[in-house]
Amino acid sequence: MKRIAILGSTGSIGTQALDVVKQHSDVFSVTVLTAQSNADLLVEQALQFQPSHVVIGDESKYEYVKQSLAGSSIQVMAGAEALQEVVCLDTVDIVLTALVGYAGLLPTVKAIKAKKPIALANKETLVVAGSLIMPLAREMGVPILPVDSEHSAIFQCLMGESHNRIEKVILTASGGPFRGKKREDLAEVTRAQALKHPNWTMGAKITIDSASLMNKGLEVIEAAWLFDVKASQIDVVVHPQSIVHSLVQFEDGSIKAQLGLPDMKLPIQFALGYPNRMLADFPRFDFRDYATLTFEQPDMGTFRNLGLAFEALDKGGNLPCILNAANEVAVDAFLKDQIGFLAMSDLLADCMEKGTFLANPSLEDYIETDQVTREMAHVWVNKQNK
Ligand code: NAD
Ligand code: MG
Repeated sequence: MKRIAILGSTGSIGTQALDVVKQHSDVFSVTVLTAQSNADLLVEQALQFQPSHVVIGDESKYEYVKQSLAGSSIQVMAGAEALQEVVCLDTVDIVLTALVGYAGLLPTVKAIKAKKPIALANKETLVVAGSLIMPLAREMGVPILPVDSEHSAIFQCLMGESHNRIEKVILTASGGPFRGKKREDLAEVTRAQALKHPNWTMGAKITIDSASLMNKGLEVIEAAWLFDVKASQIDVVVHPQSIVHSLVQFEDGSIKAQLGLPDMKLPIQFALGYPNRMLADFPRFDFRDYATLTFEQPDMGTFRNLGLAFEALDKGGNLPCILNAANEVAVDAFLKDQIGFLAMSDLLADCMEKGTFLANPSLEDYIETDQVTREMAHVWVNKQNK
């Protein structure tokens, strides 16, 4: 039995992970479930999966969750710090980081220090502090198993190739709902239009990130840390069908790819079950259903965030952390109709330009960079609304 802690169990990745657990209840069980504010779903999941611990992030909902689970042996905790505690429990064999944003950083650090393997969906953790996370994981002998479909694809392509040098990784991108649109088309797009992703159903933040190509930018940085490659070794290609999940090119020019229908349960199951593949009843990809698979250049002039991410990766230091914090504020403001779609890139560029650059940040530096950048970004948003 592998006993799993799922951070963010009520989200898109979290609920799909629980589907995987249910399908393989002979191999997987759940020790910890956590959610930020969806107390009802957390309680429902807890009653079904019987973890030993649940954490509700929103402390005002603690009493409600506690009362709803009264009579069971499930221990209820609340608040952000509780996440750092539950990942260290002896009864946790692997931690799935399925929570969204910067909030994933500190629990992940704690889990690695407690020698827990990480199934990493929370890409923001590596974007913010990959320079600390990867060496720490190596030091502790802890695997970081990617859940992101592109990185899972690359990881799968690299199995059996650890002694071979990577020339390049090629990340595929669906292009999102605004593929083919120009800047003038994007000025007035609404929240509802941006939330309609053509191929994937995901949480609100990553869906907006996909519409702006920020998600691909974050994934470029994530790939650099996971696979130890430089910005110049990462290509992004738009592939609207989302069948080829990503590719690796080796020194001899040979390229390996991983393919499948777009279904996050596959990379989730692969990370949780690693190194074993497990029987799954997911629908199979059939070439006869797809007459053409197409590939095109991303439009970095229109979707500026992708270029900003390459710049942040290339310059390094705390710049990716600045980019991430500014983006979290920008997406939140866009979702609240406080700023327009294109303004999100303006805000990112402004924070990257004005933020204090640190070449070799410590964990405390990253925490401070995140806070200071958020304050700067909020001031920027408030000015737009005057
Ligand atoms: P989501 O919004 O659907 O779910 C987020 C989960 O995290 C929820 O359970 C929520 O309660 C919890 N959460 C939110 N804010 C929190 C906070 N401040 N502290 C603690 N918990 C908090 O998000 P999602 O789409 O499932 O994405 C989760 C992560 O996985 C993100 O980092 C995303 O980039 C990554 N990811 C998602 C997909 C996908 O298909 N959804 C694919 C690849 C990677
Ligand atoms: Mg992805």
